[in-house]
Amino acid sequence: MDSFQEMAITDETLDPPDWTEVEALSHRIVDDAITYLKDVRERPAWREMPAEVRSFFSAPLPRSPAPVADVYDDVARNLMPYPMGNIHPRFWSWYMGSSNFTGALGDFLAAIQGSNLGGGNHAAGLMDGQVVNWMKEMVGFPASASGTLVSGGSMANIIGLTVARNVKAGVDVRERGVGAMPKPLRYYASDQVHSCHRKAVEVLGLGNRALRRIPTNAGLRIDIAALKAAVAEDRETGFRPACVIGTAGTVNTGAVDDLQALASVAAEEDLWFHVDGCIGALIAIAPESRSLVTGIEQADSIALDPHKWLHAPFEAGCALVRDASQHRNTFAVTPEYLESAPRGLASGEWLHDYGLQTSRGFRALKIWMALKEHGVEKFGRLIDQNIDQARHLTRLIEAEPALELMAPTTINIVSFRHRVDGASEEKLKAFNTEIMLRLQEEGIAALSDTTVQGRHCLRVAIANHRTRRDDLDLLVAEMLRLGREIAVTSM
Ligand SMILES: *Cc1c(COP(=O)(O)O)cnc(C)c1O
Repeated sequence: MDSFQEMAITDETLDPPDWTEVEALSHRIVDDAITYLKDVRERPAWREMPAEVRSFFSAPLPRSPAPVADVYDDVARNLMPYPMGNIHPRFWSWYMGSSNFTGALGDFLAAIQGSNLGGGNHAAGLMDGQVVNWMKEMVGFPASASGTLVSGGSMANIIGLTVARNVKAGVDVRERGVGAMPKPLRYYASDQVHSCHRKAVEVLGLGNRALRRIPTNAGLRIDIAALKAAVAEDRETGFRPACVIGTAGTVNTGAVDDLQALASVAAEEDLWFHVDGCIGALIAIAPESRSLVTGIEQADSIALDPHKWLHAPFEAGCALVRDASQHRNTFAVTPEYLESAPRGLASGEWLHDYGLQTSRGFRALKIWMALKEHGVEKFGRLIDQNIDQARHLTRLIEAEPALELMAPTTINIVSFRHRVDGASEEKLKAFNTEIMLRLQEEGIAALSDTTVQGRHCLRVAIANHRTRRDDLDLLVAEMLRLGREIAVTSM
């Protein structure tokens, strides 16, 4: 009975009974984290997990406690050695940033401070707004524009495309739904548009066919004449042309649509002009390259991705909307339990009025701390550096008869392949895929592949502040070695 009474009056908590032990362990975790980043170059770009590591992750739900030091040991042994690899200097797969230590400290402190960025009157809310303002300044948007930090570029694009739908619907679409629209809406983007836009138009109730893919020219940029023809055709056949999506940096080849031309078409045709700048919007801060994205400042909305070229730890995307009231009118709902108060905690702005989430993480701090530490000019130089590195790799490929460039290099993405004399496209694909897989499995480098204008190619996307030119020299040398090895063995 005694012990029952004892339990009944001792309130439980997640805080440790003894903070001093946690202190020692926490210091060890930080020391290990620093070593981990310091030595990243010495480890493989990627490695396969052994069977015992895989089976570790099917252990059942823990029911009883374990010392936190043991919990950390499990993480150190089974998790930390097998990352995706995007923090590695020779990771160039798909398109992602390479994180940074200050940003990681920011994420830690954000979790310690624990604020919910759904809104309210507190310092984290002000910092969230400040980071959005900095993003507006980076891309040349007016101070009167609005924006919101979201999980990534996909969500940022959904925000922009949703505002576009509501503005162009021709009815109160929030109240009456897409079924009440007088004419079906049409959106336009190049055939190189990112797949998240398909998901966006599907989830917006417009359907995949509402997104017309416009052919691209030899530079893989949207064909402006074809765009105009498509808009005219749609008007004639009873659709309402609503929105044109320009891509500043396509994921396949890094092509940048002619944003100025798109801004003019949008103005002439009364279209919403959205820019998917997940890759390239931030080129606007790069001193050598910024003219590539001239015109972005004329957009009605922009999606950009601090977890790419600002190297924020995942996740951090940002949607910007030129007309703040159109943005707010798309998402604001004020239930009785979230009414603002004249003073106190609930007197701040409700940041959830600018997107789909209610509770929001404190994404701003990791971005804010890294920007304060390095200054925006350094981030701009790092973007130019990656673009220069891609040009360096392009020159190496052009100078090497065994390699073939598959698309023009505009920014930091290089599409190429290893040649095989007289081989069919099918055989070339198998050969190059084998090179890509061995580069990964031997831990040399992580690249990915794609298909450009119907032809398979390997793809190097250098959004990485740790990459050096000699990493690219090594890549070429290793590809040539693997090319010889595969030729004499498996094929
Ligand atoms: C990465 C990317 C996206 C999607 O962004 P996430 O942050 O991965 O959600 C959209 N468009 C383009 C052009 C991208 O490169």
